[in-house]
Amino acid sequence: MTGELRDLGCDLRRSAPPRQDVVLRSLAVARWCAGRGWPVHPLAPGRKTPPGNCTACREPGHTHRGCPCPAAGRWCHGFRAATLDFARIEKWWGERPDFGVGIACGPAGLVVIDIDAHPGQMPGRDRLLPGIDIADTVDLTGLANGFHTIGVLAALRGAVSPAEDTTTLRVRTPSRGLHVWYRAPQGHPWQCSSGSGGRRALAWQVDVRAHGGYIVAPGTVTEAGRYEGVGEVREPAPLPDWLAWELERTGHLPPTHVPAPRPVPPRARQAVLAAGGGHGAVGRLLSGLLAEVAACAAVPEGAGFTDKLNRAAYTAGGLVAAGLLAEAEQVLGEVAEYARPGQERRYAAVIRSGISAGRMRPLSPGGGR
Ligand SMILES: [Zn+2]
Ligand SMILES: [Zn+2]
Repeated sequence: MTGELRDLGCDLRRSAPPRQDVVLRSLAVARWCAGRGWPVHPLAPGRKTPPGNCTACREPGHTHRGCPCPAAGRWCHGFRAATLDFARIEKWWGERPDFGVGIACGPAGLVVIDIDAHPGQMPGRDRLLPGIDIADTVDLTGLANGFHTIGVLAALRGAVSPAEDTTTLRVRTPSRGLHVWYRAPQGHPWQCSSGSGGRRALAWQVDVRAHGGYIVAPGTVTEAGRYEGVGEVREPAPLPDWLAWELERTGHLPPTHVPAPRPVPPRARQAVLAAGGGHGAVGRLLSGLLAEVAACAAVPEGAGFTDKLNRAAYTAGGLVAAGLLAEAEQVLGEVAEYARPGQERRYAAVIRSGISAGRMRPLSPGGGR
């Protein structure tokens, strides 16, 4: 945040904002966001939700699809009207200085981890960290909110909790929650989620704001209080790898994002054939798995690469144990290098551990264990 904005923030904390300051603040916040390439849209005065649509857009059955309002400069349909157009920004917040500022996370390239601290009944163990078993022997005394669940997840991964991540923009909410802002890698349409009840969730009392959602800009004041930056950092850091993997594991990428399998690179295919595994069911099994690994080349990160490589390595290990494949490590290495060039340090360990696990369970030529 600029010095000007931070100074404004300090003044506002000391006394109720006079009208002129409000004009400066909301416009300045909107300009500051747009200047960073984050499209902005209005929030209703004192609220954290967008203002209502126009009469036509409130008609039953009307949706944002094909609606002329956002293109015509009206703020209907919430974050879908978000803009980087400075003239429009001057007009919106100049005329309505009481509007707050929202940011459309998807087009802004942002993933915001929204950590809540609501008092509430703790759900079952299986819903604290979806997909992760928490044994009955683990004492959960004192676990009360999203700060704790995201903290446990980070600890399990040997990482710093986003709540404690001093390298990135963090924003304290009026309800004592925390928004932790990250820049999303290019080409990854991370999806929103809320809580741990839905189809897709990261942790109990932790929401994810990304494509299909918006976030309240720091500096915005609602009736509940002010959204305020924590510490000195005012720029989002890149999304940490471990958190990207957790988001992928918990279904925060749309299914359409998974690329269609592409052919295995010729050299690797030849190696499979030369190793004697190219015929019959086992050959098809391994080729199919290798094709999935190779298809990860379509996107620079994620796509379940590690899981797919692990599965292929496990199968290859079973073929090695059965005497059906000789150069498993080399074959897998070639495909992995094709999908993730220059990341040998990362994939070599996955290949080795997958093969040694697979060697414990020899595969029959029919493809079964
Ligand atoms: Zn409208
Ligand atoms: Zn409309």
